Amino acid sequence: MARRTPRPEAKLTTTLTPLRKTCEQCGNRLWVAYHCRRKVMTLQGLWQLRVVMCQCPTPTCSRYHVRYHPEEEGRWALPHGEFGLDVIALIGAWRFTEHRSVPEMHQRLLARGLAISEREVTHLMQRYEELVTLRVTDRERIKARLQKQGHVILALDGLKPDVGHEVLWVVRDCLSEEILLARPLLSSTKAGFDRVAAGSQAAAGAIEGADQRHHLGWRRDD
Ligand SMILES: [Zn+2]
Repeated sequence: MARRTPRPEAKLTTTLTPLRKTCEQCGNRLWVAYHCRRKVMTLQGLWQLRVVMCQCPTPTCSRYHVRYHPEEEGRWALPHGEFGLDVIALIGAWRFTEHRSVPEMHQRLLARGLAISEREVTHLMQRYEELVTLRVTDRERIKARLQKQGHVILALDGLKPDVGHEVLWVVRDCLSEEILLARPLLSSTKAGFDRVAAGSQAAAGAIEGADQRHHLGWRRDD
């Protein structure tokens, strides 16, 4: 969504680096392709992220020059998102667990010191709905994209908003940045994790014909 006023300077900064050091396909060492910078507004405040992008330098490798995002990046925000996934998870929990209205959620976020407009709250609420109810057309599009890509690197994150006991579990592919599965579950217990892990296996299994070796990283906010 276009922003009409410039963002203030970010006081919080961090660098995100891919966990993998070698190419999953050929085993050669990955090279840093470039760094990019993005600002993300989280519940903690505005962060300046320095994102290290890697790629395989081997011309004969099928993954030659394919960009590889840090696994952690998707946990911060959706691709091109200005607001953190934690803000989206909180809005989702307020909306669908506590049935809060948009003006009410807006006021609550302002009270927490978050610079956000009512329109942006509506937008993030819609993004949450889209995430947890991936439509058939989206599934088909993602499936086609991943088949073409031929390979996935999965990351699993659990975001725990500070209301209720719900955890928003998100399974992503680090190469395409596509969200394969997002599920709000009532617990952050092993049983909840196992359910999502099973769902992510099914999501990866939907990528017929693709190389299904994958890396499953996960972390949970406590
Ligand atoms: Zn390679």
